[in-house]
Amino acid sequence: MTAQLIDGNALSKKLRGEVAARAAALTAKGLKPGLAVVLVGDNPASQVYVRNKVKACEEAGLHSVLEKYDASLTEAELLARVEALNQDPSIHGILVQLPLPAHIDAHKVIEAIAPEKDVDGFHVASAGALMVGQEGFKPCTPYGCMKMLEFIGYDTRGKHAVVIGRSNIVGKPMAMLLLQANATVTVCHSATPDLAHFTRQADIVVAAVGKRNVLTADMVKPGAVVLDVGMNRTEDGKLCGDVDFAGVSQVAGWITPVPGGVGPMTITMLLVNTMESAERAAAARG
Ligand code: NAP
Repeated sequence: MTAQLIDGNALSKKLRGEVAARAAALTAKGLKPGLAVVLVGDNPASQVYVRNKVKACEEAGLHSVLEKYDASLTEAELLARVEALNQDPSIHGILVQLPLPAHIDAHKVIEAIAPEKDVDGFHVASAGALMVGQEGFKPCTPYGCMKMLEFIGYDTRGKHAVVIGRSNIVGKPMAMLLLQANATVTVCHSATPDLAHFTRQADIVVAAVGKRNVLTADMVKPGAVVLDVGMNRTEDGKLCGDVDFAGVSQVAGWITPVPGGVGPMTITMLLVNTMESAERAAAARG
């Protein structure tokens, strides 16, 4: 392997330590940062995600509330819970775990979250703020990717970044953040012909597709930074990313592993956003 590893666990540990210190300082002033996580139904992956989020909160000294509801919860009932959390002064961040059961309109629920508590950064107000460069919450996964670039001291100015994937939660906000950081950005997706044509020109590649081996060694410029957002399973059930790690790590300059790369950063940036929200609430309180 020639590439240097970007260790998401190590960076997360550092950032979570900083959050813990900020949380302790704010708590000492009488305002404990609080995150509410709402889970509807019994999706096994979602159950693991929410458990990890609540655990990370507790470890960093944040107040956390986990609200679990049966899959039969109605949309109106969920909207009422979101509104109650909007009004709750002990809660600074609200996260409704997706996917929601089919009878609930996820878009409607996300839009019901007060933008000042939208620590996932999925509300259209957050997306709009990111688009026009105003203060808002950045979606946690792309925000974590930007932190990783900062961590390795990589100057994105004038670099060519290729983002593979254009979802609202990863690909599009990733492209916006890279653009804000003065990279020249290309966004590829399922209708992009000859993906390799684009990735071979890239100084930075972010793979956010959800398919194994979307990026192989022959598609990467020597020395490029490769950030692997994908979360997939091998035939024997092991977690893996979108990138052919064994091959690409022989060509890239920097690479994130899966697991232990972008994944832990996503939860870390959720804590950072919740902390930020609590600090804004404290400043508004005076
Ligand atoms: P998504 O909504 O399914 O979006 C996938 C994107 O990939 C789409 O834009 C799709 O294009 C594009 N795509 C599909 N096949 C392609 C191909 N062959 N070549 C180029 N582009 C292709 O997924 P997502 O929510 O963005 O998540 C992407 C991956 O990241 C998943 O594996 C997910 O589990 C993972 N993820 C990880 C974290 C983390 O914390 N590590 C967080 C979030 C997501 P179209 O738009 O044309 O369909």
